[in-house]
Amino acid sequence: MNPLLVNVSELLRRPGNDKDLKLALLPIDLDIDEPRINAIDSLQAALHIQSLTDGVVVTGTLSVPWHDTCRRCLEDIDTTTVAVIHELYQEHVTNEEAFPIVGYQLDLQTMLRQLALLELPLAALCRPDCAGLCPTCGIDRNLESCTCDNTVRDARFSVLDELKDRLN
Ligand SMILES: [Zn+2]
Ligand SMILES: [Zn+2]
Repeated sequence: MNPLLVNVSELLRRPGNDKDLKLALLPIDLDIDEPRINAIDSLQAALHIQSLTDGVVVTGTLSVPWHDTCRRCLEDIDTTTVAVIHELYQEHVTNEEAFPIVGYQLDLQTMLRQLALLELPLAALCRPDCAGLCPTCGIDRNLESCTCDNTVRDARFSVLDELKDRLN
């Protein structure tokens, strides 16, 4: 039986009916093939499913373990972030953001896969204020300081920024 297909025929009988669901899922269960999520790490979903007059709402959290390299200092990042879930399923889809209920079943796979992939940052940072590597000597400026003069490079960047501002 596929744990990601949830039968809601009981819930649909009366608005307000609800149930809780906890799932531990491997990336393969969500059809995720993504090098930043280890194949053996499980994603944890804690879901509350409740029937409404016009559909079924799924709320809860999905914790997503991922690893990456800091864009500025190249340190490894190993972390788990938590996505907040608030999604609607409808038998007759009238809300354009709703997922369909097909044969009294919610298919959680697409919904959870999308949320998991959104947790992966476009450019990962080990921390928001990471100082990065010195562009001249390459030391990690989070750990050490140097006396390199990077003003030429910084000036070049500010010219580019100004140009961009003017073009926009
Ligand atoms: Zn960093
Ligand atoms: Zn330096």
